[in-house]
Amino acid sequence: MPFIIKQDKFGVIGNPIAHSKSPIIHNLWYERLNINANYEKILVENPNDLKNTILKYKGVNVTLPYKEEVAILANYKDEGVINTKAANTIINDNGILKAYNTDIFGFYEPIKNYKINNALVIGAGGAARAVYYSLAKNNIKTKVINRSKKDDFLCEVHTTLDKFEFDLIINSTSASLKNLLPLEENLLEKLAKNTKIAYDLAYNHDIFLDFCKLKNPNIITQDGLDMLIFQAALAFEYFCGIYPNEDLINEARELIK
Ligand code: NDP
Repeated sequence: MPFIIKQDKFGVIGNPIAHSKSPIIHNLWYERLNINANYEKILVENPNDLKNTILKYKGVNVTLPYKEEVAILANYKDEGVINTKAANTIINDNGILKAYNTDIFGFYEPIKNYKINNALVIGAGGAARAVYYSLAKNNIKTKVINRSKKDDFLCEVHTTLDKFEFDLIINSTSASLKNLLPLEENLLEKLAKNTKIAYDLAYNHDIFLDFCKLKNPNIITQDGLDMLIFQAALAFEYFCGIYPNEDLINEARELIK
């Protein structure tokens, strides 16, 4: 009988999933590190199929709209998952599903060397909650505003904003994807003029960062590409036991930008 080497299977679950760049990142790192594994896009249309689908893989990443649902069905949750009620990384440990949230790490890693005392988060969806928790963990005083009120998350609506000096403003809304600004122009202009760093979780959609730079040419801008790569790097460590080095991080960035 031929000797067959078993290949470990990983992937990213979502709906839709065609746009995901995660397979490019993970498969690059398997290749460079000689890891016998494959990472694929996994479309799950029916949430009832989530658990059985995950059990076919050694580990999966999870994206919209399932981050909350996988956190509920996991047998073990790390501190970030407990606090945000959302997971983006699941390890299948012989049928025991272990959930982690690597977005929290991914968000902060690109800005970790700046001195930041206070921040404003615009948006109150899933990503905003990971951002809020990440900032809180790093002792940064944070205010959250959203266009609508949320009963389960401490946030104010835009119109109540009366303070405009923040070291960091983060666009955690999906407005940029629709080529829209996340709040009224006059408010955003006042914020941009008084801010050191503007961060948009979106990437390849520059409307927010371009607006901030126009109003304040000294502002530092950060888009969401690095967040995507660093959340993948920590997920990769959970999956394979190795954190990709700087060269591998840079190579992935070049490949997907
Ligand atoms: P959600 O759908 O959970 O939340 C969307 C948020 O955006 C809500 O607060 C919503 O407000 C707000 N919003 C939507 N449209 C507008 C608008 N036109 N004006 C103002 N506010 C608006 O999405 P996520 O939190 O999962 O994702 C948010 C963004 O973060 C997306 O751009 C996504 O691509 C990005 N992201 C990037 C990651 C990365 O690795 N770089 C990782 C995860 C997310 P309301 O509640 O009133 O509807």
